[in-house]
Amino acid sequence: MKKPEIRKNYFQDIYVLADPNRNKRPYSPPEISGKEPKCIFCPNNIQDDEIVLYRYPENTEENWKIISLLNRYSPLSPDNTEALGSAEVLVETNKHTKQLNELSITEIVDVLNAYKDRQLSLEKNNKYVLIFKNRGKMAGASRTHSHSQIYGLPFVPQVLKNEKRDYFKYLKEKGACPFCDIVKIEGKIKERTIWEDEHVYVIAPYASEFEYEAWFMPKRHVLTFTDLKTSEIKSLAQAIQKITGKLEELNLDYNYYLHSTYNENDFHFHIHLCPRPNNAIWAGLELGSNTYINPVMPEEAAKEFRS
Ligand SMILES: [Zn+2]
Ligand SMILES: [Zn+2]
Ligand SMILES: [Zn+2]
Repeated sequence: MKKPEIRKNYFQDIYVLADPNRNKRPYSPPEISGKEPKCIFCPNNIQDDEIVLYRYPENTEENWKIISLLNRYSPLSPDNTEALGSAEVLVETNKHTKQLNELSITEIVDVLNAYKDRQLSLEKNNKYVLIFKNRGKMAGASRTHSHSQIYGLPFVPQVLKNEKRDYFKYLKEKGACPFCDIVKIEGKIKERTIWEDEHVYVIAPYASEFEYEAWFMPKRHVLTFTDLKTSEIKSLAQAIQKITGKLEELNLDYNYYLHSTYNENDFHFHIHLCPRPNNAIWAGLELGSNTYINPVMPEEAAKEFRS
């Protein structure tokens, strides 16, 4: 029997209880796609009165490959001064049954370029642009048609503020960027490396809070997602295809979200990917202490991702 371990995040005061003896898999399969009677994200079903914020390729009308629609059910709106902001749903493909990992690298690159376009457009009028994806019921997705969401927020989320505060603390103490250090140090150890090429590095973080958690980082010190070069976007697409593909194989729902900065002098852009197993319920421990129990050691997870 392996001993449980308390592990601390690389540069934040966030702890996790890594307990390899707890129950883990099998996870139950995700909901069967194509089950909804009428999918509102399929090209033929998009209502005429939807507000289209992005379409790729441009001027394609109903022959789009990617479309972003204003989410009218969001509590945020650009017209309400009491809840200023915006929310949109970016439909990643016109094919109902294809999940993100089933798209080609070119198609995933197109999705990432759509993120880029939307971020550039929204960051002018918002304090933070949060780009994220919910895949599957456990991750909060109500629709199976592959999509991401983009929020224009009138504030910088506390999670990111804390991360930035600790980023600068580490930078001051060690004279280096914590993310660059992770790439450098973990890249040598290899045990927790999930995937890498010359541009992008993906790690199962030492203190993973979620089983099969992954962080994606460009190897170059890039402040914000929109600064990524074409070659880096392509590498990121390859990493996303590979890693989300593995999660589909494992029947694991997941969330991912992008952490960038702007209007600030420094940061290192990254993506957090958090799988949401159907047997994990957040209870008093998680809510009261922000401490999670992870039954899959990241070393084990990384090995499985690499296989
Ligand atoms: Zn659909
Ligand atoms: Zn860095
Ligand atoms: Zn972050």
